[in-house]
Amino acid sequence: MSNKPSKPIMLFDCKTSQNVIGQDKFLNAFKAILNHGAYCQGPETKELDDKLAAFSGTKYCSTCGSGTDALTLALMAWDVKPGDAVFVSSFTFVASAEAPVLLGATPIFVDSDPNTFNMDPKDLQRAIDEVKKEGKLNLKAVIPVDIFGSPCDYDEIIKIAHANGMKVLSDSCQSYGSIYKGKRSCSIADMSATSFYPTKPLGCYGDGGAVFTNNNEENELVKSCRVHGMSPADHYDNVRLGITGRLNSFQGAVLLQKLTVFEQELKERVRVAKRYDNELDSYFGKQKVLDNCQSAYGLYTIYCEDRDELMAYLKDNGIPCGAYYPRPVNTQTAYTKWNTRSLPVCEKLSKTVLSIPMTPYLDNEDLDYIIQTMNTFAASKKSKAA
Ligand SMILES: *Cc1c(COP(=O)(O)O)cnc(C)c1O
Repeated sequence: MSNKPSKPIMLFDCKTSQNVIGQDKFLNAFKAILNHGAYCQGPETKELDDKLAAFSGTKYCSTCGSGTDALTLALMAWDVKPGDAVFVSSFTFVASAEAPVLLGATPIFVDSDPNTFNMDPKDLQRAIDEVKKEGKLNLKAVIPVDIFGSPCDYDEIIKIAHANGMKVLSDSCQSYGSIYKGKRSCSIADMSATSFYPTKPLGCYGDGGAVFTNNNEENELVKSCRVHGMSPADHYDNVRLGITGRLNSFQGAVLLQKLTVFEQELKERVRVAKRYDNELDSYFGKQKVLDNCQSAYGLYTIYCEDRDELMAYLKDNGIPCGAYYPRPVNTQTAYTKWNTRSLPVCEKLSKTVLSIPMTPYLDNEDLDYIIQTMNTFAASKKSKAA
């Protein structure tokens, strides 16, 4: 039996990369900002826009204040408004649905695939047919979410959306750096939104986000909405509604530093995931990553029938873990008005899933201990059942 590591195990690790990169690099970059004085959307954020567009393989990237802003700005560029139906995964963080609701649109919640946990294209088709039959709403957009970093079935979802005259906005807030059939996250759907909240695969030290597109007109609309709907020709003429959606230069500087180790961190996440994939007892169901795809492993998530007991047992043994998400969005209080469809897979997932430590910096001592502790739980359950 391997011993409990002397250092605490973390579910997320937003700090170790500072030592890998060197804190002085951050301090020097902050000092440059103090000196040049462009605190919002300064030279750092412009450099970051170019680097992220290159990393993702898109023509345009516009950084902004958060992942929620990114989703909202993309929908604003498409003029999403009251009377529009926006189809969205329900097994997600609330912001995926919050963005269309803030713009007055009607969210239509879609069930998940039980293996990938992502939007089930068959249920998307069913939901579209239901809305069409009712004939009250305008079919506008689909927001699939790469939950826990694992890419959705984009080919199917895009095919269904486009066949119904809708655009697809990828919520890539948990999946920056993932790969779908040779393409990087944020380069697959019509537009994509990501988040740089500290616990995301590419995290800053505050709030941040970005919108990606290959369409110049959409990108210009995003940039205008990001600063209150400002006209590019006359900064004192606001030609549409917008928000305060700028990224501040300090977060831009953090992300430029974090980008220098990001590919290595993604490799380390894959290393950790492979050990879990191969060594965790088959008592635990594992999130399926689609063929020819790679997850960014924002989280590593398993499922089992006695989730709550496992969670208590792991915490007792010094292994942090979390149930993401214990309530699908359609069942949350602010969203009950739109809880119109039965989503049995989302309901089941919310009762059985558990996310276990996933950071680029878990070493073999940590992993040996986590895997053995979990497998001991599985063995005791299996012997009782036998
Ligand atoms: C984190 C997250 C968001 C929102 O990002 P913020 O930067 O916190 O606004 C949206 N969708 C998903 C799936 C997320 O995980």
